[in-house]
Amino acid sequence: MAISVFDLFKIGIGPSSSHTVGPMRAAALFVQALRERGELAQVRRIEVQLYGSLSATGVGHGSDNAVIMGLMGEWPDAIDPAQIGPRIAQLRENDRLLLDASWPVAFVWARDMRLIDENLPFHPNAMTLVAEGEAGELHRDTYYSVGGGFVVDASQAAAGVADRDTTVLPYDFSSAVELLELCRRHDLNVAQLMLANELTWRSEEEIRAGLMKLWRAMQDCVEQGLKHEGILPGGLNVRRRAARLHRSLQELNKPNVIGSTLSAMEWVNLFALAVNEENAAGGRMVTAPTNGAAGIIPAVLHYFMKFSEAVTDANVVDYLLGAAAVGILCKKNASISGAEVGCQGEVGSACAMAAAGLAQILGATPAQLCNAAEIGLEHNLGLTCDPVGGLVQVPCIERNAIAAVKAINAAQMALRGDGQHFISLDRVIRTMRDTGADMHDKYKETSRGGLAVSAVEC
Ligand code: SF4
Repeated sequence: MAISVFDLFKIGIGPSSSHTVGPMRAAALFVQALRERGELAQVRRIEVQLYGSLSATGVGHGSDNAVIMGLMGEWPDAIDPAQIGPRIAQLRENDRLLLDASWPVAFVWARDMRLIDENLPFHPNAMTLVAEGEAGELHRDTYYSVGGGFVVDASQAAAGVADRDTTVLPYDFSSAVELLELCRRHDLNVAQLMLANELTWRSEEEIRAGLMKLWRAMQDCVEQGLKHEGILPGGLNVRRRAARLHRSLQELNKPNVIGSTLSAMEWVNLFALAVNEENAAGGRMVTAPTNGAAGIIPAVLHYFMKFSEAVTDANVVDYLLGAAAVGILCKKNASISGAEVGCQGEVGSACAMAAAGLAQILGATPAQLCNAAEIGLEHNLGLTCDPVGGLVQVPCIERNAIAAVKAINAAQMALRGDGQHFISLDRVIRTMRDTGADMHDKYKETSRGGLAVSAVEC
């Protein structure tokens, strides 16, 4: 399975990669299939069935609305988040869905949006879409949202294939041991090796431009997060904090030099809070590698860009490539989905990725970079996914800020060493996978355990 940096970092919308971005993509793929089969104009009615975690916490994550938008032909990277609310309200009022933005079909929300409290075997985030014509069923497919906005359909799941991309890469790696050996043998650092792999899909100019576009989207997201105040949607009455914190930090007016001020860490908190509040509000953001954990990687990069001297675009490119190398290892050998392995797969993976990215631009050897990632992941092992009310707010928003600070510390600790460490990155990733397998389902994005339950009891 070949994974690109652009698979791990995708411009999307909040609040969840597996519950919002993935379901919207799945529905858009379903419409695409109807179009390719020449059946679009024969459709009279659509039924949506959400299973497992999508049923348990999907409404809180906006999965239902996301699927409808996908059926209307929208894609997560292009949709205007501000249009979702009014278009859903119109559909609910008229019982009419504009399939592929062109073909009106019947859709009665109470009847056709079905939440089914049952797990399908391949993955807990499952959904089935059914298109009916005059004479009965025209087409149905089941999709699995496997984390980070990745989607697998029923035939891929049956073949045990999680991704169709079988591109042969010049420096393919499936473990940190292989990555380190390739770097050693070809005298490359991790970012250089990743860039060489990316050249299989795109020119260097396109890669650099694409990564800078992601960075601009991350910056826009922080900017939006600093502008908005008030209560986040969903009913928990969680107050946004980023704008107020920003004003306080500006008042401090401390010099922008690392180490000169305790408030530097507060800036890291600020960047993460801004992204995750924007995500929780359904705004535009970048999956990194998921929505729930989307604040960590941008926060650490903002921190570096704000407090370092003579920063360049090359720093951004190297940071994202270094981070992606670790994201690939987590995805290939464990999971980046909270529904599969708990929050260690989301926040833990993002923390490891950010640590690796920062280590890369601070001049780490490949061994030091792997050490940074290992430290970042090791101290998130066992982290459960227990979002209160099924919303990506508590503990998710604050957890990103804590993990971003942890990532910086991990990179700094690794850079003080020679790359040798007691437990290897491969072993820690394997431990994440095994811990996730042992973890009770109630701690995997179902909101049936942990803080999700304690908060209700209080
Ligand atoms: S607790 Fe972690 S894994 Fe679960 S929704 Fe929040 S950020 Fe995602």
